[in-house]
Amino acid sequence: MVVKPRSTVENAPVAEVLAILAGGQKVKQRILRMRACNEKDSKGAPCCGHLKRWYGFSGEVTEKFGSQPEIYRCERCQTLYVPNPQEEPRSAVQSF
Ligand SMILES: [Zn+2]
Repeated sequence: MVVKPRSTVENAPVAEVLAILAGGQKVKQRILRMRACNEKDSKGAPCCGHLKRWYGFSGEVTEKFGSQPEIYRCERCQTLYVPNPQEEPRSAVQSF
């Protein structure tokens, strides 16, 4: 059994905040293969809550991210995440 070294905090990519909703809820973009929330609490400790597919979004979310957005929500701090564009590429061409 191989134990992989944990990546250091310094090397960890930062999930970009894409939007902050009217209620103060953040929408962040997931880092590739990200499965746990990296939002920091008031003491600077990462949340580490699980990201779950979520469908309870408001009109504000569909306005920003399309009518059927793929949205994940942290089960602890409720921060929203959208998939990384490089993750599970679809047939659609990515354009910026
Ligand atoms: Zn969280």
